[in-house]
Amino acid sequence: MGLYSRNDWILNSFFHPLSTREVLEKVEQKIKDHLKRLLPHTPPIILLDLDSTLYEVGHRTLAIMKEWNQAPRTQLSIQPTLDRVTLEHIGYSLADMAHKLGLKPDHPETHHALKELKSFWGDRFFTNDYLPHDKPYPGAAEYTQGLFELGAHLVYLTGREESKMHKVTVKNLKRDNFPWCEKRTILVMKPSVSIQDVVHKQNVKSLINKTGTLIASFENEPVNIMALSKVFPEAMHIFMDTVYSDNPTEAGNNLFRINSFKKEESFS
Ligand SMILES: [Mg+2]
Repeated sequence: MGLYSRNDWILNSFFHPLSTREVLEKVEQKIKDHLKRLLPHTPPIILLDLDSTLYEVGHRTLAIMKEWNQAPRTQLSIQPTLDRVTLEHIGYSLADMAHKLGLKPDHPETHHALKELKSFWGDRFFTNDYLPHDKPYPGAAEYTQGLFELGAHLVYLTGREESKMHKVTVKNLKRDNFPWCEKRTILVMKPSVSIQDVVHKQNVKSLINKTGTLIASFENEPVNIMALSKVFPEAMHIFMDTVYSDNPTEAGNNLFRINSFKKEESFS
């Protein structure tokens, strides 16, 4: 079985040929259908990833990068280039950003600067302190609120580490008007950094099975969506096509794909 990454994964996977609007409405319909069957002990559940699914985290990286670039100790020849970085240059990783900027990572000074920046970024990105920079994708909160109002239970399932990021994760969800209610929303964070994201995501199985029936998951990371689709073969798995790692995974054959939470937007 072949393993594919990024665009090759998309090209080799099967996504139902539906527009963004049709996918988003299908999830709503499935919630309604489930509730019509009057199964109060198995409420419909929606799994929602946070980073690069509900939230545009490029703003977080941008703020960290600007901070690093402004410090006097980093007077390097790449500074003028980094000065002009905008959100559009921020991909999944700093390596993506360097590529988009046309930087030459093999050049010794650039190599050194990027290494220093990466370490600076790594010390900050995964902390409460920089989470306030995150912004939800347009329509994400409204759509999620709609699912909640239909009667769905929401599980925010994130690879963010609980001890370092819980406080502002909750604060942001409330700030940005995502549903937050003791009885019908749960935030599942990583208890330890040593657990792989994909394992952490698979581990939600027991919680879901105890709580109700998984209707759909929303996720931007190919490896995670493939893992979830195996754990919950009956549910819809929706790939949020934003940014994602180049970690390879096998091709999917029963997936959905969106690039927005706004129903009027579709793939061109
Ligand atoms: Mg994500």
